[in-house]
Amino acid sequence: MDFSLTDEQQQLRRTVREFAESEIASHVMDWDEASHFPSEIIPKLAELGLLGVIFPEEHGGAGLGYIEYVLAIEELARVDGSVGLIVAAHNSLCTNHIYKFGSEEQRRKYVVPLAQGQKLGCWSLTEPEAGSDAGGTRTVAARVGNGWVMNGSKTFTTNGHWADVCVAMAVTDRSKGSHGISAFILEKGMPGFHPGKKENKLGMRASDTSEVVFTDCRVPAENLLGQEGEGFINSLQVLDGGRISIAALALGMAQGALEAAVKYAKQRKQFGKAISEFQAIQFKLADMATQIEAARLLVYHAAWLADQKGARFTKESSMAKLHASEVAVRVANEAVQVLGGYGFIKDYPAEKYYRDVKLGTIGEGTSEIQRLVIARQLLSKR
Ligand SMILES: Cc1cc2nc3c(=O)[nH]c(=O)nc-3n(C[C@H](O)[C@H](O)[C@H](O)COP(=O)(O)OP(=O)(O)OC[C@H]3O[C@@H](n4cnc5c(N)ncnc54)[C@H](O)[C@@H]3O)c2cc1C
Repeated sequence: MDFSLTDEQQQLRRTVREFAESEIASHVMDWDEASHFPSEIIPKLAELGLLGVIFPEEHGGAGLGYIEYVLAIEELARVDGSVGLIVAAHNSLCTNHIYKFGSEEQRRKYVVPLAQGQKLGCWSLTEPEAGSDAGGTRTVAARVGNGWVMNGSKTFTTNGHWADVCVAMAVTDRSKGSHGISAFILEKGMPGFHPGKKENKLGMRASDTSEVVFTDCRVPAENLLGQEGEGFINSLQVLDGGRISIAALALGMAQGALEAAVKYAKQRKQFGKAISEFQAIQFKLADMATQIEAARLLVYHAAWLADQKGARFTKESSMAKLHASEVAVRVANEAVQVLGGYGFIKDYPAEKYYRDVKLGTIGEGTSEIQRLVIARQLLSKR
């Protein structure tokens, strides 16, 4: 068993950390306050290969694996969860769905520009009436002539307003239940396809979360993604990888919150000494660090499994996401406590971590749904 990162992995971590600290850190609160989507850093993320981390070079990607991917998301989220979320939805949801289930022609047409970062992607499964129960999708795609006509709407799509390419699920045969939902690739500018309401959020405010609407939207036959009727089943596999990225996102934010608390505890003086000298504060910091380290092991293990050819990692990715996101909520809460009143004030970073981390327990399946996934895996074993 080898827990060490390779020289290349350590270098990648350093590069992303330097980028996040020099290009993102100083803007974080302005972007958050204004709910500003940081489109200006998308070309820079592309230049670093972060929009195609897990895809082979021949398909425009960086040719790296999930370990490198989680390191990158963790480092971005340590500084700004929103940027980590933009990158996660683009890589492991939209682009990966096309890469895993698309034809070679679709890979050439869509994965290459997405992985190179010339285009931005989004992935739409959730609907107003179909959240945890995503199999209850109502958006429909009806065969008309040689193609399809889509009608309906999706909610809570990350990157929805900014994406050039959208993978969306729609019912193609209601009588077949979860085997009657298909995936389609939509492109910005297709008549009848447009973003709708942009959500005003508690946290992750620099990440765009939007409605996506289909009104008599004509989709060419060649934009069916994967086998007809298998879009929902394929989505579950896509989410296995996606959940590792949300786990890494939570981990990075927890690490950022811990570092903010340690820094503050060493500077803040009360009763004539730094508050870091009080054992009550030390115990908080020690618990935060220990919980983060335990979460990190689960996340890296799930990422390592995802990199093993043919390995199943449904249970491990759900465990990593469940644990890391719940730890991040606890750690961010304690960070606010360590900063006292200043933890509640926007001049200090703790309150933003506190708001941002909550998404980890909701997006790509709530904590309750992760427990259902894990239990199903346990109970299905003979
Ligand atoms: C910022 C943000 C970004 C998102 N990005 C995307 C995206 O890019 N693409 C996309 O498709 N979706 C996205 N989502 C949607 C997200 O995946 C859903 O919000 C999530 O799956 C929960 O669905 P829901 O909000 O409808 O909650 P509901 O399903 O209505 O759940 C409400 C509560 O009931 C609980 N619950 C539901 N069913 C059960 C059950 N069987 N057993 C026990 N408890 C249950 C839930 O755990 C939760 O506590 C995003 C959401 C947010 C907030």
